[in-house]
Order: sequence, then C-alpha cells, then structure tokens
Amino acid sequence: MSVRELRSFLSGEWRSGAGPEQILRDATSGGPVACFRSGGHDIGAALAWGRTRGGPALRRLTFRARGELVASLATALRDVRPELLEIARTYGATAADARRDVDGGLFTLAYYGRLGAKALPEAGFLLDGAVEPLSRKGGFAGRHILVPRHGIAVQINAYNFPCWGPLEKLGPALLAGVPSLVKPATRAALLTCHLVEAIVESGILPNGSISLLVGSGADLLDHLESQDAVLFTGSAETGRAIRSHPRVVAEAVRVNVEADSLNASVLGPDAAPGTPVRAAFLREIRSEMSAKAGQKCTAIRRALVPESEVDSIAAEVRGVVEELRVGAPSDPETDVGPLVDPDAVRAARDGLTELLAEADVIAGDPDAPLPAGAFFPPLALRLRDGGAAARVNSVEVFGPLVTLMPYRSADEAAAICAAGGGSLVTSVFSNDAAFLAEVTTAIAPWNGRVMTVSGRALAEHSGHGVAVPQLLHGGPGRAGGGEELGGLRALHPFLNRCAVQGDPETLRELFPDGAA
Ligand code: NAP
Repeated sequence: MSVRELRSFLSGEWRSGAGPEQILRDATSGGPVACFRSGGHDIGAALAWGRTRGGPALRRLTFRARGELVASLATALRDVRPELLEIARTYGATAADARRDVDGGLFTLAYYGRLGAKALPEAGFLLDGAVEPLSRKGGFAGRHILVPRHGIAVQINAYNFPCWGPLEKLGPALLAGVPSLVKPATRAALLTCHLVEAIVESGILPNGSISLLVGSGADLLDHLESQDAVLFTGSAETGRAIRSHPRVVAEAVRVNVEADSLNASVLGPDAAPGTPVRAAFLREIRSEMSAKAGQKCTAIRRALVPESEVDSIAAEVRGVVEELRVGAPSDPETDVGPLVDPDAVRAARDGLTELLAEADVIAGDPDAPLPAGAFFPPLALRLRDGGAAARVNSVEVFGPLVTLMPYRSADEAAAICAAGGGSLVTSVFSNDAAFLAEVTTAIAPWNGRVMTVSGRALAEHSGHGVAVPQLLHGGPGRAGGGEELGGLRALHPFLNRCAVQGDPETLRELFPDGAA
C-alpha cells in the first residue's frame, strides 16, 4: 500500500494542514501508510460553512426525504466496502474485526435510512405526544414538537471503530437535518478519510452536509455555538475535558459522551460445568478477548463467577485463552491481531502492572515472545480478593485481558458490577429466573444495556459486545452518561423540543396528527 497524504475537507475544499509532516504506521509492520499535516485551518469558517450551507439544504427536505438520502448513501458506500476492509488491516484489524467495523457501520447507516424512509413523516417537524388541554373550558392547549437545530454536529471519534463510529453518528444527524464535521482519531484516520472521500464523491449529500478534520482537534471546541452538538467517543479523561471546555459551558452546547467502561459478565450459580449456559459464557469471553484484540468499549473486562466454581472456570478459561492464535491480521488463522500502535501496548502494559498488585495470571504469559508489531498477549487474571473494592473495577486495560472475580451472593455480584462506576453493558448467564431478576434489577441503574442469556436465548442472542442500532448504546457515570442509537431516540441530540401553545384548533392545523 502506498503512503497516502490525508487532507481535511473543510468549507467544501480538500485542504492540507500547515504543521510538520506526521506519519501513520501499520500496526503490524510499522511501515508508513499515511502522512498528514495538522492545524493551520480556519475552523470557525469551516463550522460556519456547515451551519449556513449544509443545515438549510438538509432542512429544506422532509424527515422522510432525508431518510431516502441516507438509504441511498448506505447503498452507494457498498462500492467502497472492499477498500475499507483492506485499509482496516493497517490498524491491526483481522478480517473478522474489519467486518465488525465496516459492515457494522454500513448496516447501521442503512438501518437509519430504512427507518427514516418508512417511519418518519413527509414533514419538517416531529410530534412528541398528544395535544394537552391547559384550560378548564378547553380553549387553550399545548403540544410538543421536535425540529432540527440550526447548528452543526461535531463528532470526535475513537480509533477502534473508524468506520462504524462516524456512520452511527452521521445517520441520525442527517435524518434529523443537521450537518456534521467528522474528526477521526488520528491513529486510525486513514480509514475514516477514505470513507468521507467516498461520501463526498458520491454527490448524494447536499453541499455542506459533511466536513472532515484530520489531525488535532485542539481548537475545534473554541468555535462552537449554542445550536451545535458534540458527539464524543473516547476515553473518560478526554470526555471530561470536552464537557468542561469553557466554550461548551458558556454556550450550553449539547454534549454526548461515550467513554471507556469496565463492563462485566456474570455467570449464575446454576451454571454447572458442561451446561449450555456455561459454554455460552465461555464463548463470549473468547469472543470479547479476540474481537479487535479487546480494543472494544463494550469488551468484558470483569468476569464474575460463583466462588465455589472459580477453580473449575479458571481451568476452562485457560483452555479458551491457550487456543487463541495471535498473529498478523492478514493471516486467516489469526484470532487476535495487534493493538493499534506501540503507545497502546505501553498503556495496556501499565494497566496490567496495576492489576497484578491484586490479581494473578491464570492463563497466557505476559512475557511470551510475540510477533514483531504492536502485540499484547491474551491474558486471563484471577483476583486474589477485594471484590467491589479491587482496582480492576477502575483500571481499564484496552486489550485482550479479562479478570475472573469470585462472588458469594447475587447481592455481592450486583455490588461488584456497580463498582465499575457505570458501564455500557453487563451480561448475565443463568437459567435461574430468580437470580436473573435480582441481578438485572440491581445492576440496571449502572448499565446502558443488560443482556440476559438463559437457555431460551442461547441460539439467537446478539452477543455481549454488539451495539445494535435498535437499542441504546451508552451508559451512566464512567461510561460517559451519554445515549446513542436506540432507534429514533438517536435523533434527539440534533433536535429541539419545543412546547407550542395555542387554541387546540390552531395547534391541530399547524401540527396535524396525521403529519408526523
Ligand atoms: P482518546 O484519546 O480519548 O481520543 C478520542 C478522540 O478525542 C480522538 O479523536 C482524539 O484526537 C480526540 N481528542 C483528544 N483530546 C482532545 C481535545 N482536547 N479536544 C478535542 N478532541 C480531543 O481515546 P482513544 O485512545 O482514541 O480511544 C480509546 C478509548 O475510547 C478507550 O478508553 C475506550 O474505552 C474508549 N471508547 C469508548 C467507546 C464508547 O462507545 N463508549 C467506543 C470506543 C472507544 P487525536 O486522536 O487526534 O488525539
């Protein structure tokens, strides 16, 4: 693959930055794959271009027409799927990882296209609830409507899903009638740049609907206005910096944060060795360690098992980890590819050192020889003691690592889950209805999603780590407190909810029931 120059697409033009040349390297070979220059752009003008060109052009269309636009875009992007899958290798994605990112992104965009084209009205507003009477005689009433905001959606993405991340935000923003500026994580910017280039070249979106910023987003927030929205995916630390940015605070800019999360999976006390539910639990551990080499915000970091079963499960997990084949993403035999770059390996090693103060390695070898490249060995740890007070509830190792944590009761299992401080997802594997009910109810306040897997769900469940567009993706507390996806709820950051008052007849004339 030749070294590609990455440029930003701002104010309708492809532009190089002004800073020193920076190089992006292949996660496996370390060879250069792309170069770019950061900074030197007029960000204020670029955001204004989106607001004044893209916004009005999108708002001229009805919600349904925008759905058709999104559906056409999803169809057109299928043409670049092979190129996107190929580029994904450069940041360490195996063929399966690349499909998760690329096919997952195209599927999510297509989902929003279908939803808009079928479920949304030929209107410029959405109704939110019925006409509410406000006076005794019925001559005065109110009704909530949802209308597109006049700002721009600034999306700041993490490196692990450079295709799915931008598309799952772009679909809802376009449906809502709001233009976007996409800022990819620098480490995996090559794939997002190729994607945005394909979107621009398709000519499907009105001028101004999409912009791209390559490189640092340091001054991006300085130019935000009150109708804008920031959609951030990344670490909790960066999320906090964005949320507390003076301009964001002063302009009351809407911010949605999807941050790191110490997700858990709980095996019920009834799941004896050899039962299908226990086998499913082990399969999810395997899948979450190998998918994207554990660099997934939803990955299982903490595996909670009944204390009496820890030894036997440790032996089974050892079998799972020892089977994982680490290698080049291009090798079809590889289960676990490299991390995105050497910095990610260093961060994972630092986290491992912290965890080893309270846990022992039960599977894998931290010092095993690895192929050349940004590799980290798949490892399973076993917590010595500490339960809800242990550091594994707060230290994220963004790689193929899981820690077994013993629990003695449903109460304790729930307390350990909650000690993560807010998670994107927890899965519970059990056929014991009382245990499922107790744990699910207790942990729901700490999770964006809880996946229960009893025998009846075994054949069809979608997987612990899979964010589906029909359901909420996000989580409270440490997970960022944000909400993405979840069907039409995903449009809410881009819409203004307005309570319109008047006499009921006028309200029905302005906003007829059948229209939306
Ligand atoms: P990160 O270091 O927080 O960076 C995320 C994004 O923020 C990047 O685009 C980065 O740009 C940008 N950024 C950094 N500082 C900024 C600032 N001051 N102003 C504006 N933008 C700024 O996270 P990462 O290392 O890319 O991703 C890994 C983390 O993301 C993990 O902790 C993982 O758990 C989390 N994650 C969460 C989800 C979720 O849905 N909850 C999904 C995926 C990943 P540069 O790349 O140019 O520095």
